[in-house]
Amino acid sequence: MVLVNENFLSLPGNYLFSEINKKVMAFRSRYPDAELIRMGIGDVTRPLAKAVIDAMHQAVSEMSDENTFRGYGPEQGYDFLIKKIIENDFLPRGVNILPEEVFISDGCKSDMGNIGGLFDRENVVAVTDPVYPVYVDSNVMDGRAGQLQASGMWNKVVYLPCTAENGFIPALPDKPADIIYLCYPNNPTGTTLTKAELKKWVDYALETGSLVLFDAAYEAFIAEDTIPHSIYEIDGAKECAIEFRSFSKKAGFTGIRCGYTVVPKVLTVKSAANGKVCLNALWNRRQTTKFNGVSYITQRAAEAVYTPEGKKQCDENSAYYMKNAAIIRSGLKKIGFNVYGGVNAPYIWFSTPDNSGSWHFFDRMLREIHVIGTPGVGFGPSGEGYIRLTAFGSREDTIAAMKRFESWTL
Ligand code: PLP
Repeated sequence: MVLVNENFLSLPGNYLFSEINKKVMAFRSRYPDAELIRMGIGDVTRPLAKAVIDAMHQAVSEMSDENTFRGYGPEQGYDFLIKKIIENDFLPRGVNILPEEVFISDGCKSDMGNIGGLFDRENVVAVTDPVYPVYVDSNVMDGRAGQLQASGMWNKVVYLPCTAENGFIPALPDKPADIIYLCYPNNPTGTTLTKAELKKWVDYALETGSLVLFDAAYEAFIAEDTIPHSIYEIDGAKECAIEFRSFSKKAGFTGIRCGYTVVPKVLTVKSAANGKVCLNALWNRRQTTKFNGVSYITQRAAEAVYTPEGKKQCDENSAYYMKNAAIIRSGLKKIGFNVYGGVNAPYIWFSTPDNSGSWHFFDRMLREIHVIGTPGVGFGPSGEGYIRLTAFGSREDTIAAMKRFESWTL
């Protein structure tokens, strides 16, 4: 009889979005004429840039001709895309990355979920709280999280609270942590770390021998000069950090699927039997065994993001979302809400103005103004009392939602 990986059974169901869905469906069936505005799920809505579409058409044509047809590509990604990534995302910021350090993938979620396979089960994982759930759940699957407590926390995971009280800046762990997940600009809070704040983490990791897994999926939305775009802008980070990037939000690729991971060659971890082990070599081994590369068409599409037209068109879409974010921020501030994020990230995080719990306020928003947000507590215990709104909707919906908030008597 086949034995299951018991770790999967200790995972709770995907409670957050299914619970939201259930509530929305129940509301819909009672009030079928209510016009709901969805500001909950973090998915883009703008169509792909023309430069991207043109590149995909061109790549499809190549595939239809025996002279230009391509079969399996390199598991690590095509050189043409890796070159553009290095030239555009890193060199202008003074960061030198080698082509062999970049691994193209089908998105950041897969890589963030799979990277845990390289590490021993006994490593202690630290996450900011609230947190993008993939970091915690993937460690549960790997058997690294321990038991789920009534508090909603796993007993072997170190949680680093990020709330208005600490300005959403996590304190360094007060107990040893081997693997630290940082996501900046942050989902769900929309907040950021300055270079000086990020340096504290790099210094901590170098001092303690821990590893930072840096999720920069929202890098394209950074507007302020003091905010680092890459952890490698901090001296020493190549010795202690892996960086994950995505074309999902930067270029609207949530349905196309492309991202990349940078694993520096100088990055090592400890093996009891073999001393220091190069993580780049391990990740390469993992990818060449379990992954067969991203489609040629997709990689040509991603390459087009870096052409002058592609950049302009993608930037216009990002600016569109960030204008929505500014409308949400100022709309909520005007009515006295405590609002965070939304300056360098397309997420707006606010504390419930009636000091109620996240779910209670979510219900009120749904029932009274027909706006759907995401309850902050769904991202972790420190998210209790907060709501996340996304700026990824249409301008019309964003403006309409703010009008509803303004005329709402709370
Ligand atoms: N990382 C964070 C913090 C996210 O919020 C998301 C998606 O919402 C992802 C990663 C997933 O990125 P991808 O679409 O590249 O898998």
